[in-house]
Amino acid sequence: MKIHEYQAKELFKKYNIPIPEGSVAFNVQEAQAVAEKLGGYPVVVKAQIHAGGRGKGGGVKLAGSREEVAVIAGQILGMNLITHQTGPEGRMVKKVLVEQGLNIQKELYLSIIPDRATATVVIIASEAGGMDIEAVAEKTPEKIIKVYINPLVGIQAYHCREVAYGLNLAPETIKPFTALLSRLYALFVGYDCSLVEINPLIIIADQAVIALDGKVNFDDSALFRHKDILAYRVLDEENPLEVDASKYNLNYIALDGNVGNMVNGAGLAMATMDIIKQAGASPANFLDVGGGANAEMVENGFRIILSDKNVKGILINIFGGILRCDILAEGVVQAARKTGITVPVVVRMEGTNVEEGRRILSESGLNLTTAVDLKDAAQKVAAIVKG
Ligand code: GDP
Ligand code: MN
Repeated sequence: MKIHEYQAKELFKKYNIPIPEGSVAFNVQEAQAVAEKLGGYPVVVKAQIHAGGRGKGGGVKLAGSREEVAVIAGQILGMNLITHQTGPEGRMVKKVLVEQGLNIQKELYLSIIPDRATATVVIIASEAGGMDIEAVAEKTPEKIIKVYINPLVGIQAYHCREVAYGLNLAPETIKPFTALLSRLYALFVGYDCSLVEINPLIIIADQAVIALDGKVNFDDSALFRHKDILAYRVLDEENPLEVDASKYNLNYIALDGNVGNMVNGAGLAMATMDIIKQAGASPANFLDVGGGANAEMVENGFRIILSDKNVKGILINIFGGILRCDILAEGVVQAARKTGITVPVVVRMEGTNVEEGRRILSESGLNLTTAVDLKDAAQKVAAIVKG
């Protein structure tokens, strides 16, 4: 799950990570009121969307007066902000963060993520932070430093010093920086994050460090432990089909291909997406209906796949274990009756009660193509979507 910058900064505050003064605003009047309270101009007006690259897209601007706040907040609120992370369709801006404008001496990059390859937590940092960090990583990777932390041992003073020295910090900055880094690590672990990122982490005149930006992503599987984070959820920033699927406990992720697929088991779903690719087509989604799915879940999964306008064909690949083939078949038939199938469907089904499942499908009168195995199924659905 993702949250907004202003929400990430609320968490930073809770962990004593320094942030600029400011508040979120939902309209121009509120933005002006926040600016007036900050006690001096310039202030910065920042679009709040679940995507980065806002600065370059025109979503972060300095305002030098009360009047200018009105003009800039008026431009940003309601704009369709397009950044390299939103895709060409952009995101509608519904709120802005208004903060004190600070004098920046240096912009650093700092993040913490899990590193799957080493099964550790990695701190990534760079003294060349700011809006061009992607170019830094690509062209001068030696300017990116990484420090790996065994999660069982946790962050130690020497880890913090290693990062601080790698960033060539001034001696006065080392203490506030290392304190900030260990608090950021505590936040990362405390909230089961999949990412915490500060870009830029700025150094100001007296060598203090301040988190000028903030991005925090959470491991969805651990959200049940963090009810306060669930309150941060902004449904209209999420993919509507994914929101719908989450109501039915379906593991659904929207992708950009045109073969919808419904599979039981995450591993089988990954294999199915691979084989769709090998057959020359592209998956429109990942959908694991789960081992214990019932007919209603199958029906909802089917309805969600069908409501994706890009879907030109559907592949159902079920290995009947706990989810028996007859239950699946009933779900498909119910969904087809209620929603009406608008695209061709290929079914590959094996396992418990497969004969019963096949009988239900063949007696349903639906226009389904059956496949003998996974490869056959993928080739059939690929041929369909290619027209
Ligand atoms: P992003 O582009 O979505 O990552 O948004 P950021 O919050 O990182 O802001 C983009 C850039 O705006 C930063 O890298 C800064 O250079 C600039 N910026 C943001 N706040 C201030 C500020 O208070 N003062 C100044 N001078 N620049 C700022
Ligand atoms: Mn940023």
